[in-house]
Amino acid sequence: MNQSVVPDVSPSTLEVVPLGGLGEFGMNMMAVSWEDTTILIDAGVMFPDPDQLGVDLIIPDLTFVEARRDKVKALILTHAHEDHIGAVPHVMPLFDGPVYGTSMTLAFLEPKLQEHEIDAGDRLKPIRPRDKVTVGPFTIEFIRVTHSMPDCVALAITTPAGTIVHTGDFKIDQTPIDGEHFDLHRFSELGAQGVLALFADSTNIDRKGFTGSEVEVIEAFEELFTSTLGKLVVAAFSSSIYRMQILVDLAVQFDRKVAFVGRSIVQNSEIAQRLGFLRVPSGVQIRDSDVNGYASQDVLCLVTGSQGEPQAALSRIAIDDHRFVKLAPDDTVVLSARAIPGNEKAIARAMSHVARRGADVVTPDMKHVHVSGHGSAEELKLVLSLVRPRYFVPIHGEYRHLSQHARVATRVMSGADRKVQVLLAQDGDVIQFDEQGARIADKAPTGRVLIDVTRVGEVGDEVLRDRRHLAADGLVVAVVAISRHTGALTGDPEMVARGFVVDSGQADALFHDAGQVIASCIAESGVEERTDQGLMTEKLRVELRRFFKKRTGRRPLVLPVLMEI
Ligand SMILES: [Zn+2]
Ligand SMILES: [Zn+2]
Repeated sequence: MNQSVVPDVSPSTLEVVPLGGLGEFGMNMMAVSWEDTTILIDAGVMFPDPDQLGVDLIIPDLTFVEARRDKVKALILTHAHEDHIGAVPHVMPLFDGPVYGTSMTLAFLEPKLQEHEIDAGDRLKPIRPRDKVTVGPFTIEFIRVTHSMPDCVALAITTPAGTIVHTGDFKIDQTPIDGEHFDLHRFSELGAQGVLALFADSTNIDRKGFTGSEVEVIEAFEELFTSTLGKLVVAAFSSSIYRMQILVDLAVQFDRKVAFVGRSIVQNSEIAQRLGFLRVPSGVQIRDSDVNGYASQDVLCLVTGSQGEPQAALSRIAIDDHRFVKLAPDDTVVLSARAIPGNEKAIARAMSHVARRGADVVTPDMKHVHVSGHGSAEELKLVLSLVRPRYFVPIHGEYRHLSQHARVATRVMSGADRKVQVLLAQDGDVIQFDEQGARIADKAPTGRVLIDVTRVGEVGDEVLRDRRHLAADGLVVAVVAISRHTGALTGDPEMVARGFVVDSGQADALFHDAGQVIASCIAESGVEERTDQGLMTEKLRVELRRFFKKRTGRRPLVLPVLMEI
């Protein structure tokens, strides 16, 4: 990678460089530097659009961190969402220092490090709200905020140039499920002492009013627990620990057993229970394999797949392909999550499959079964009024959210004795603060790196056909013609390979066998699954990848193309 393009830090200047999250939702990351010390705030991922085949995750380009390798002294995490910690396994090997986060954040990080075989040693340093840690010239204070999961913090960083405040993700939930309140007092004290710059979450700036507390969904769910004659199946984000607690409490109240279904929700509920953030009375939780042993009106299933992900529990349940959880006409399936833009079609398809099972479908448009974790305009204004920064930098959002937040900030501060100056920055902008003031002075390299999880490596920057990946393992495109009505194969699959080198004597046999894999994969799938392109493409991709790995030891990029005839 080209390191010469990363500018040096100017002397006696505080420098802040957003490396992700300013111009898109996700992959949040920021570098804060003073002379020889750089600290990183968050290292998140972004999820790809369904049409970015072969890509599992997107992380920020880390050229900047590599170039500053010797100066990076610590990584500070605000909370455990994927868009804040998902890229940590890619960042930790690039520097030597500690990683600070609350106990929840670090507990969610640990399995990711294990997957990447990273031994953190004693680098993970748990902190609590109001704790302060010192890293070189910086003192970092952690301030409790409320969000859609427990144990989230904002940061107040004291630097030689002044104090900067980074909100992380937040909403102001005045009736938090765990009784841990947003620390408005500390924000207000910091404002009174004087804040150089505020970096604040812009996600919901285009929503009027207040977002509302997590407890607001209880009413709608009470209705559903009362009216549902069969199983209640609720799909939520696997990190929505508060939502889980609300549903577990209602299950106890309405005498239902609770089954967590899907790998990530099982894992996260275990972690949250171990740390005491999720309380499930004994005898309430059952395994997914036990669901069939109970009358359906006695069961609540909390499942993964709220985004219509083809391999997740909800999609499997929806097409009657889950080993343990079957839907029947008296059951109700609740989508307790918003659709991440790009996933609408996949979610709609999953809901149609559920409807075919005869079960009721409830979405956030129909009942108040989801509430956002991000503050709306009035909450963002409140934080601005309390902190009263000299400079304001909107973060977390596409450009239109950032610029809207900038306009709001100017309005909020227009009557104040000292006007706020807005710095509308984007990824890579080098923001400098010194005695002369603040400015966007330079541009550092940024971008997106696409990750194919099965390789645990980079696929490429912005482009699927990454040269390294292809040079090593090549590409196989499988063109599969199927009947529009039955989803059955209408001919032999055609294989096109590039850079996937196998012995010419073996190639014919290999591709013939790959064709057999496709044929039997399709034959073993139900008509409903076969005629759902999204589900079938992903299933074939997984099967073919496994086949080529087993037979050749290589992991070519596999792109199945389904043609309906
Ligand atoms: Zn978050
Ligand atoms: Zn976030």
